Amino acid sequence: MTFMINHKEEIINHLEDRLANCDLCPRDCRVNRRRATRGFCGGGAQARVASFHPHRGEEFLLSGSRGSGTIFFSGCNMRCVYCQNYSISQGREGKEFTDKELAQVMLRLQDGGCHNINLVTPTHFIPQIFRSLLMARGDGLTIPVVYNTGGYDKKEVLEKIEGLVDIYLPDMKYAREESARKYSDAPGYPEINREAIKEMFRQVGEVEWEEEGVAKRGLIVRILIIPSLEEEAKENLRFLAENVSRGVFISVMRQYRPCYKADFFPELSRRVSEEAYREIVAYARELGLKNLILQ
Ligand code: SF4
Repeated sequence: MTFMINHKEEIINHLEDRLANCDLCPRDCRVNRRRATRGFCGGGAQARVASFHPHRGEEFLLSGSRGSGTIFFSGCNMRCVYCQNYSISQGREGKEFTDKELAQVMLRLQDGGCHNINLVTPTHFIPQIFRSLLMARGDGLTIPVVYNTGGYDKKEVLEKIEGLVDIYLPDMKYAREESARKYSDAPGYPEINREAIKEMFRQVGEVEWEEEGVAKRGLIVRILIIPSLEEEAKENLRFLAENVSRGVFISVMRQYRPCYKADFFPELSRRVSEEAYREIVAYARELGLKNLILQ
């Protein structure tokens, strides 16, 4: 165990060093975040947290009866024009936490009875978060850790945090390059996202359960149905069926509503129809995907 923690500390030291010439995500901004310079995500040397609380509105296998211990990080490495949390992702509301303070937040959420620690938008703060996690583990944190991401993550960085994440919860937003660039300013997203998801699955596999029907390990993919991009949702479902597993848990989400800059895009300024949603769910079933969470 001591060896494992030392080994992980070495990896985190390495990731932390990369803040000085940041290439932690596919953006490769190459800025020195230890100084005043900032890259696309706006993140600096310390983690910035917008809020933390037990969240009862996640999928039941995460929220269970006592809530998911959600920590919202400020900033983002994507710019989704329809973001529902734009004041956090783009406005960067929040305050900076030291590694120790963040570890204490994790322990408080556990003390409050949460089933897990749910790291929302963690990609640009990986070194700080996992340093804090090691501290919290050393001080008695035992509940699973959820990596809740927009899915624009480098496979190579994910490989480095193997063993520290119990549950991966990535989005699959786009299957086509043009949409990724137009709506999230995320070049290369489809390919990067698919590589990341395969790596996540390699690490944690299919969902394993706690007694209460709450997940303790595994991959859960979120597919938010975006109006006019229904075909891309289907392409991503097909990718999961053919390249990941027909047993993977997939949250098929219909709660899209136009937010932030969506009204500048007529095709995005409406809700997804019930009919379109039903058609996507039927398609997923035709593909043999067994574990759909419909919401
Ligand atoms: S983590 Fe932030 S600064 Fe680093 S490469 Fe990504 S967007 Fe740029």
